[in-house]
Amino acid sequence: MKAEIISVGTELLMGELTDTNASWIAGRLPALGIQLQWVSIIGDDLPMLTEAFVHGWQRSDIIFTTGGLGPTQDDLTREAVAAALGETPVVQEPELENLRQWFRNRGQEMPGHNVKQAHLIPSAEFITNRNGTAPGWWAQRDGKHIVCMPGPPGENRAMWQDEIDAKLKELVDTEVTITRNIKTLGLGEASVDEIMSEYFGLENPYLGIYSKADGIHLRIIARASDEAAAREMIAPIEDAIHDRLAPYVWGYDDETPELSVGAALVGRGMTLATMESVSGGFLANTITEAPDSNQWYRGGNVAYTIEAMIASGVASGVLETHGVVSQETANAMAQVAQSATGADFGIGLTGVLGPQELEGNRPGTIHIAIAHGDDVREFPLRTPPRRLVIKRRSCNTALTELRKLITEVAP
Ligand code: ATP
Repeated sequence: MKAEIISVGTELLMGELTDTNASWIAGRLPALGIQLQWVSIIGDDLPMLTEAFVHGWQRSDIIFTTGGLGPTQDDLTREAVAAALGETPVVQEPELENLRQWFRNRGQEMPGHNVKQAHLIPSAEFITNRNGTAPGWWAQRDGKHIVCMPGPPGENRAMWQDEIDAKLKELVDTEVTITRNIKTLGLGEASVDEIMSEYFGLENPYLGIYSKADGIHLRIIARASDEAAAREMIAPIEDAIHDRLAPYVWGYDDETPELSVGAALVGRGMTLATMESVSGGFLANTITEAPDSNQWYRGGNVAYTIEAMIASGVASGVLETHGVVSQETANAMAQVAQSATGADFGIGLTGVLGPQELEGNRPGTIHIAIAHGDDVREFPLRTPPRRLVIKRRSCNTALTELRKLITEVAP
């Protein structure tokens, strides 16, 4: 089922309002197996809106709209849908009474303009709006649909949950859609794209590539008559991803780096401790986002100065010889974190946050180390020089590298 979204409102075109409705609706459609193909923003202009509906009616199976359902003269969505379908809106007495009651409940008289909201064309039905006066419209003819919702997010989200979601499920229940998200870190988007190139561009199963704070994600979406058939369509692409990218894969579906590390450690009865400088506690904060982290995280030390590092057990000779921004210091931090707590793994994380250089190193220069027994693995890293990006990338890298190391040392 091909869909499009039309967000209505001159405010959106003036840059006064951001179109969060379209992205919210877009986020609900993949799980329903509805393919969104176009998103447009149209101002409060009857000819332009009508043209958009005429065009949308030709190319899409379903059009979602938000906005333009209010009572004022510049709320024109209903009029445009009616014009595009060549139908005439007629006032509906029961809906008019509902509106009057809505105002009476608030001790008010219904203004005359609101009568407009009780109009309907023959092909449409109202969608109840429990949070406002504007009922939605669901127009349906010749197997095609236009679903009109009010602009305020609080109104259209409630409408979606109350009615629209269930009706859409009925419409698409002949197909099952399964998605599989595979998360990698260590290769750039262009490299992953090239390695998997022959799988892109297919419609079903579909393979998408997304650059995220925790690496490059590959999402496979398959639609089929039942779940088993959809999984069968996903399997060859997932196998190819594993064959070609195995060393870089760290997680699946909704896993985050900390959940993935937690699951691996808990399953093996192992533990972790950290010592970080540049990330200022971001690593400990990220780790403790995992609800079960108290089972596997022994604690973390934010050693933000040379004095704090020495006081925590990093040998002053290492700092004097190699500097704070060095792999040797990261290694020493990882070993100290591990030995001080008796954890199975220790992470050390140092580098330059900026904006100034430190010891001749530019912001975004990072050294990560992971200690396990007598072994210390080194992961130098360069990130873009923005402070939050440095923190996020360095912590995600530390955790995803740890995830890979856990499976290597304790398969
Ligand atoms: P109302 O009955 O409130 O007039 P409406 O359906 O006519 O509803 P609009 O007047 O177009 O909707 O928008 C009302 C408010 O809804 C906007 O001021 C804005 O706060 C919010 N809104 C509208 N469209 C969007 C959108 N695309 N994304 C996010 N918010 C929106």
